[in-house]
Amino acid sequence: MFETVPDMACKRAEISPGALAFRDAETGRAWTFSEVNAAADGIAGGLRRAGLGEGDRLAILCLNRVEFFLTLFACQKTGIILCPLNWRQPAPELVETLEPVNAKAILHDAMHAGLAADVAAKTGAALFGFDDALHGWIAQGGPALRAAVPATRPWYLLFTSGTTGRPKAVIQTARMAWANAINIGQAIGLTAEDRSVNFLPLFHTAGINLYTLPVFLNGASSTILPKFDAERLLAMLRAGELTQVFGVPAIYQALSLMPGIEDVDWTAIRCGCGGAPLPEPLIRFFAERGAYVLNGFGMTETGPTVFLMDAARAAEKIGSVGRAQMMTDVRLAGVPDGAPGSGEIQLRGPNITPGYFENPEATEKTFTPDGWLHTGDVGRRDADGYYFIVDRIKDMFVSGGENVYPAEVERALNAHPAVLEVAVVGCADEKWGEVGVAFLVLRPDAELDVETLRPWCRERLAGYKVPVRFCVLEDFPRTAAGKVRKPDLREFLTDA
Ligand code: ATP
Ligand code: MG
Repeated sequence: MFETVPDMACKRAEISPGALAFRDAETGRAWTFSEVNAAADGIAGGLRRAGLGEGDRLAILCLNRVEFFLTLFACQKTGIILCPLNWRQPAPELVETLEPVNAKAILHDAMHAGLAADVAAKTGAALFGFDDALHGWIAQGGPALRAAVPATRPWYLLFTSGTTGRPKAVIQTARMAWANAINIGQAIGLTAEDRSVNFLPLFHTAGINLYTLPVFLNGASSTILPKFDAERLLAMLRAGELTQVFGVPAIYQALSLMPGIEDVDWTAIRCGCGGAPLPEPLIRFFAERGAYVLNGFGMTETGPTVFLMDAARAAEKIGSVGRAQMMTDVRLAGVPDGAPGSGEIQLRGPNITPGYFENPEATEKTFTPDGWLHTGDVGRRDADGYYFIVDRIKDMFVSGGENVYPAEVERALNAHPAVLEVAVVGCADEKWGEVGVAFLVLRPDAELDVETLRPWCRERLAGYKVPVRFCVLEDFPRTAAGKVRKPDLREFLTDA
């Protein structure tokens, strides 16, 4: 399907040249679609004059800025492969990350000039700043480019969140972006009237594709915040500036604790969420205020959207990630097609990556011999075709011969009024093989004797699932995407 994909910025500039595409929350500058396309042409010209061409890798180190998207479109026009870097990593880690990528140049905002220079000194990459190079390229302009982009050519590379190990560089293509936009657009009914906001880090798929690129492709506008800022987001929500928001659970958790949340009129705002389990109390908190936070499932490898809950049945199917979307086929390993049951989720469709960048062994392991992507996640399908994410296969542990999915234990503990967040991991045990240990973050004003959590769990879970230890933490070790890093929690246990 789709051998080539039209040049996105160019196409949008033809269809709705004068409409608002982006607003930079930091500078207040507004960008129309035709200005975006002209700027992308300018950047493409500048990058070519700087010696970069098709297939070369360009790393980018910046907070969320409109310039990022302008550069992304310039890369689509030229075939230069953009590689967004995580600005939270120190220089030595970035050097390691860039090893397989071998970037020819690093583009950076003013804030990350020092970090970029340190990395460039070690890798030999050329350096270009937004202020000293990119803005000049935009001002100078460039020949109007209109690329017919080979649909499966690497457009940009994204690293996985690194929740289970070292992040992997996943090839992202224009076809994946389009298929994701179709999945999202159909599921939530995006229109050119939508007003969206972008604050998830741009070095992860959610920052780019949930929903900023789909919003752009539908001719709607996005306000770009440099990074997540609960107060600013709440102010925008209270002022009625947004028609839709996409966040990860930690963001809804933060919003729910903000004074002023009660003043938001949720009736005109669609809320999406994904990336990690969405606790039921949080869904109920927002539902009581008129907002259904619709849970979705996706991966860096899948563009990302695979499943997205629909508003119509959200109340009835609490905990579900919805049905598989239009561009993605799903099968559950070991379960007959369409039948209810549980098994590893395997995926096929144009939103799936061609593979990991220059890592054929990892790519081969991730696909079944007949070409389906192994997600590494167990899913359950109910009789109506709604899916529930059971857990990651890697997080499952075996206690006394029985499989324990930590997510189920976490759900039971999340229902406790004093618990804000919880993560359960398996740890080695002489008698049972493995047993569960629960790590908890309590609500700000909660007082709790953790030993009372044991009977709480016993009432709700089979005995072998009840954690043997409960440890209260101030906060969890997290990835940049806000996910709990369970390998670090397991390390606490082996160190203790
Ligand atoms: P790594 O692959 O480096 O260990 P990661 O898998 O967390 O990190 P991502 O690609 O960002 O990297 O995340 C995809 C994973 O996130 C899925 O495989 C799944 O385990 C989890 N996930 C995504 N959405 C949901 C959801 N709605 N509920 C539960 N888990 C989810
Ligand atoms: Mg993964």
